[in-house]
Amino acid sequence: MTTPKITVIGSINMDLVTRSPRFPQVGETLLGSGFQRFMGGKGANQAVAAARLGAEVQMIGAIGEDDFGRELLANLQHEGVNTEAVKVLPALPSGIANITVAEGDNHIIVVSGANFGITPADIEAEEARIAAADIVLCQLEIPMDCVLAAARLAKKHARPFVLNPAPAQALPAELRSLVSVLTPNAYELALSLGLPTDTPVETLIRQSGCQVVMTLGSDGALYNDDTGILHRQSTFKVNPVDTTGAGDTFNAALAVFWQQGIAPAVKQACAAAALSVTKAGAQGGMPTAAELADFLK
Ligand code: ADP
Repeated sequence: MTTPKITVIGSINMDLVTRSPRFPQVGETLLGSGFQRFMGGKGANQAVAAARLGAEVQMIGAIGEDDFGRELLANLQHEGVNTEAVKVLPALPSGIANITVAEGDNHIIVVSGANFGITPADIEAEEARIAAADIVLCQLEIPMDCVLAAARLAKKHARPFVLNPAPAQALPAELRSLVSVLTPNAYELALSLGLPTDTPVETLIRQSGCQVVMTLGSDGALYNDDTGILHRQSTFKVNPVDTTGAGDTFNAALAVFWQQGIAPAVKQACAAAALSVTKAGAQGGMPTAAELADFLK
């Protein structure tokens, strides 16, 4: 396989994870039981996962001119991601996700900061990085008009455009027409299409009118082929430690192995995502190409 060139357009966040025996009441102060920081943001996570799997990755996004931003940038560079198109925006803070874990559940507040400071003009300025990619990977943690600008450029240069429509929201009709592959979970696909969230997954995929690869958590993935027939890829059995970043690893692997065809790409995406849930933090368990090959032996 030739080294795939992947351009990721998306968010870069610092995840601030607080652990607590329970969630506080409104107005209450609690003593927590732990605190950790993890590099995150769906865009950065997918860029790192693709780089670990051996792709040549360019990241288009933005950070603030602050300590988190410097750490986030250094982390991407350390992972081998090309960050020449990551803008530093002095007027905005780097994006953060404030995550409280308690009672086996979590509460998350994302403050987008610099991620929402990029504009369609910034994306258009990086047209050459989209034109040079074998595949373009995008999510919804940046402004929708930037996602649209990226999708239009991918179309202009006939580059496959993979959209992971997360966080869930309705998609403009034009964007749906520009997507080569949509990679939602069931909830995200229902919201993307403006359909009730209890719509059966098979119906959602049939009504989408596009190529869909749906992630089903510990049940693996479901996808349609170009004749519209649905296929299921079962999950790989592992001992899950932290499922944060499973979807991001899945998307990255799908893009990295896309040139092998949809069935092998989805299989390797499920395997890479399964490996990713065996360690803490979104990026902690993302496998290297060698680890994935070993796992699939
Ligand atoms: P998202 O967080 O985007 O909803 P999912 O939770 O559906 O993503 O997970 C993405 C993929 O990760 C799944 O399609 C599956 O292949 C893999 N995965 C998730 N949880 C597990 C698990 N417990 N064991 C093995 N694989 C898993």
